[in-house]
Amino acid sequence: MQLIFLGTGTSQGVPMIAQNADAPIDMANPKNWRTRSSVHVVMDGLHIQVDAAQEMRLQCIREKIPAIDLFILTHGHADHILGMDDLRRYCDLKGGSALPVYSTVEALERVRAIFPYAVREKPISNGYPAFSLHEMPARMELEQGTIEATPLPHGQVETIGLVFTEKSSGARLAYYTDCAEITPVAEELARGADVAVLDALRPREHPTHMNTAKALAAAERIKAKNTFFTHMTYDIDYESSSKSLPTNVYYAWDGLRIDI
Ligand SMILES: [Zn+2]
Ligand SMILES: [Zn+2]
Repeated sequence: MQLIFLGTGTSQGVPMIAQNADAPIDMANPKNWRTRSSVHVVMDGLHIQVDAAQEMRLQCIREKIPAIDLFILTHGHADHILGMDDLRRYCDLKGGSALPVYSTVEALERVRAIFPYAVREKPISNGYPAFSLHEMPARMELEQGTIEATPLPHGQVETIGLVFTEKSSGARLAYYTDCAEITPVAEELARGADVAVLDALRPREHPTHMNTAKALAAAERIKAKNTFFTHMTYDIDYESSSKSLPTNVYYAWDGLRIDI
């Protein structure tokens, strides 16, 4: 299984527009330039895209993403949904068939509201997107492995937490972005995974995201072999903030690739 971090930033990106020059982050370090969060997972050749940030096109060009077979929207917030129009290129590459889109009932409503022209079995014409919408099941059985889903609290909405298990290798990856906490069910599902990716917004508390301390506590309970933090603000400076992380816990960065 391969995990590619397309983006690792919070909803405003890093740096944000008109960021204070005295923000405690070294913008000379490319690892501190964060586009909005999403990941691409390759499970035994199957290309799964999780979320589509505003920078979707630039991310896919940068990482040379050749195909998307399956799209999962974790929740309907702007920084995860607004890049979905760019999925049209992958519809073209599939020969004009609809891309399967999985999400919550609530987030699928947002897809219908924002991209009404794309909710159809065939694109309007070449160059248009087409999405076939499906409610995310608790467990998706695929030829290449399984994808398990569990709801995570995120303020007014629920985010889908995802655990991927590749059939051929047994590799396990948990992707838990945008959540105020990890539920006991989610914790159990991810326990002992090879890689866990956790929302870790910033050191200060936030009502709908885990801060660094909560993410560290969750990492400690989940006990993945390696844990990567994502969805960070400009309060996290890669070099200096990494020094206070325990062994096997890391800040992810845009373009980081992990073979699991
Ligand atoms: Zn977000
Ligand atoms: Zn969100």
